[in-house]
Amino acid sequence: MKAQAKVLAISGGVGGAKLALGLSRVLGAGELAVLVNTGDDFTHLGLCICPDLDTVLYTLAGVVHPAQGWGRADETFGFMAEARRQGAPDWFALGDRDLVVHVERTRRLAAGERLTHITADFARRFGVDTTILPMSDTPVATLLDTDAGQLEFQHYFVRLRCEPAVRALEFRGASQARPTAELETLLRSPDLQAIVLCPSNPYLSIDPILAVPGLRAALRAARVPLIAVSPLIGGRAVKGPTAKIMGELGVQADLATVVRHYGSLVDGYVVDRVDESAARALGIEFTATQTLMQSLEDRERVADASLELAARLRAAAAPSGRRAS
Ligand code: GDP
Repeated sequence: MKAQAKVLAISGGVGGAKLALGLSRVLGAGELAVLVNTGDDFTHLGLCICPDLDTVLYTLAGVVHPAQGWGRADETFGFMAEARRQGAPDWFALGDRDLVVHVERTRRLAAGERLTHITADFARRFGVDTTILPMSDTPVATLLDTDAGQLEFQHYFVRLRCEPAVRALEFRGASQARPTAELETLLRSPDLQAIVLCPSNPYLSIDPILAVPGLRAALRAARVPLIAVSPLIGGRAVKGPTAKIMGELGVQADLATVVRHYGSLVDGYVVDRVDESAARALGIEFTATQTLMQSLEDRERVADASLELAARLRAAAAPSGRRAS
């Protein structure tokens, strides 16, 4: 655990990892920690698979598939081809290199190691200087109540391509989960300056993290600005089912709903320029920039905007005479 982390990002998979990469590049070595959703984790072909942890790991390590945003760029699929020939389920793609991570994680978990420790070791071996923290060391499973029945997350997301309509969500195991000692230490550290909620899906990626008892309170107790980057641009998701799910849950897919959803947890928002007047009308603390992250420069710009807003809010909250510049 690198105690000098100055910023904690909170992330799901692809959308969150884009900003985490931007933050890692504008901050100094070791100054970023990322708390990652594990509600998407599942056991498949006997292997413990943690899609969001791996997406963040591969993204920060620079080995992620650039077009997909998940999986590895330099991948082969010999295992998949043979698995298919043998009649094994093939709806979840497992590349040969990717497979090694799942096999090794499964072996180490079975030997009694904590997921936090295994994840830190992967990060070290991939040469990643960001601290990657799973949201908890005990399993939490996101289950979706849909018009096609109750579905485990990956069955909904990958096998059924998010097609069923979602009626409700459940985070099974959350009540037994606890924030890890590593997270608690980080949140108590005097070095911590900001928490950034990445533009991940609030319902599928961020809510499972916030469902860990005590985690929300620990974030607030850190007494640093908590900045959220909106996952919606003009009411549309950049990718994935965020807007679709909001409609199915009976809420409007817009900035106002995101703001209401996060409530008092968030101190300020980074919104897209197209949402600037909506943000002003809501009376929230915000900064506006182009939030669509296509290039590396885009990722760094959104990261800078988040950190600048955090610094502004920190300065405004500092007792007079001790204002940061
Ligand atoms: P998943 O777990 O792989 O589905 O990924 P996340 O939950 O981390 O991210 C999905 C969310 O990220 C969606 O709501 C997208 O709208 C949002 N997103 C993806 N790319 C961008 C981007 O470039 N800018 C913004 N503002 N949001 C993005």
